[in-house]
Amino acid sequence: MTVTPAQETDALRRQDPELADVLFGELARQSTTLQLIAAENFTSPAVLAALGSPLANKYAEGYPGNRYHGGCEIVDVAERLAVDRARALFGAGHANVQPHSGSSAVLAAYAALLRPGDTVLALGLPHGGHLTHGSPANFSGRWFDFVGYGVDAETGLIDYEQVRALARAHHPKAIVCGSIAYPRHIDYAHFRAIADEAGAYLIADAAHPMGLVAGGAAPNPVPYADIVCATTHKVLRGPRGGMLLCGQELAERVDRAVFPFTQGGAQMHTIAAKAVAFGEASTPEFSVYAHQVVANAKALAAGLAAEGLVVTTGGTDTHLITADPAPLGVDGRDARGRLAAAGVVLDCCALPHGDTRGLRLGTAAVTTQGMGEAEMGRVAVLLAGVVRDEVDSRTAREEVRRLTADFPPYPG
Ligand SMILES: *Cc1c(COP(=O)(O)O)cnc(C)c1O
Repeated sequence: MTVTPAQETDALRRQDPELADVLFGELARQSTTLQLIAAENFTSPAVLAALGSPLANKYAEGYPGNRYHGGCEIVDVAERLAVDRARALFGAGHANVQPHSGSSAVLAAYAALLRPGDTVLALGLPHGGHLTHGSPANFSGRWFDFVGYGVDAETGLIDYEQVRALARAHHPKAIVCGSIAYPRHIDYAHFRAIADEAGAYLIADAAHPMGLVAGGAAPNPVPYADIVCATTHKVLRGPRGGMLLCGQELAERVDRAVFPFTQGGAQMHTIAAKAVAFGEASTPEFSVYAHQVVANAKALAAGLAAEGLVVTTGGTDTHLITADPAPLGVDGRDARGRLAAAGVVLDCCALPHGDTRGLRLGTAAVTTQGMGEAEMGRVAVLLAGVVRDEVDSRTAREEVRRLTADFPPYPG
């Protein structure tokens, strides 16, 4: 039986036309609208091939060379490749590539270092912390005693002196640095110094910037944090999943915290796809990509500021921008709705000053499509025109279609 992607596609169309319509409908949506969700990207055909491979059939509880199931000798090669490539890419003593998601990675990091009831210091949720950083709706808020630090209401920057004061007052067992909405580099050395003073572990949740780190376009948390949590599907451009990096001394605790403590069988198709993505991220082309992602974000931030939006921290060091559209007469939620109708897809988010919702955008996906700073200028003008209600959604959709037609994410 030879199976090519075209044959697989034909088989799916014949067997389940209803679901085939969903797959092709989503491909069309991704290809003809503008993807500015900061956490999204377009993964490569090679990564998609690994994800859609028969490795998906294999049960593999445990770790390479030490599995609870037979027949793992081939998938073991995939996991060893993924681990070796991740270690080399980020300069880590140890890598665990099994977490099913970023949240699973954070859960395992806490499980490796903490006991229920321990105090943890993390960026507060209204300031850009993730659900796993102490939300009452999440295991983290239920099982640990989270204290939140914030960003300065005026500058939007992390207030390191506040972090230090809170660490002194609360004696946390761990300090978490990392955010879903922070546009600037994080000063990991500063966090390390504060954690050392407080006798706390430092956990870096670098789910967003890890792809920039891989390309040399953002500082690497690995030399500073006891454990680094990451996703593989954001700027890193791999399959949907998580990973953990640490030194050799925590390797065994981290591995046991993933399996058997918080997960069962590893998803070997995803782990193979992670290996492919780490291979891609090790190339000079990926470094060029990562730097272009940042250049595009800077250009987009400047364009939005020129259109009158208030860009948090006045710009960005990364792929991510948050901005307040209030000067254009709408809040983030209404702006997101108008933009969605125009085919511009992004999120709204909390803002440092806290009274209205803002917009959160990222340039990882559009940069993968090949767009550059000139296109970011066009996007900023279009976005502001739609938000101000000066450009109707039909006209805007045509502009989006022209733009995306020149930069198809999956040519052919
Ligand atoms: C995206 C993200 C996560 C969670 O990733 P999922 O794969 O959605 O579970 C965790 N922490 C931070 C900081 C993130 O940005």
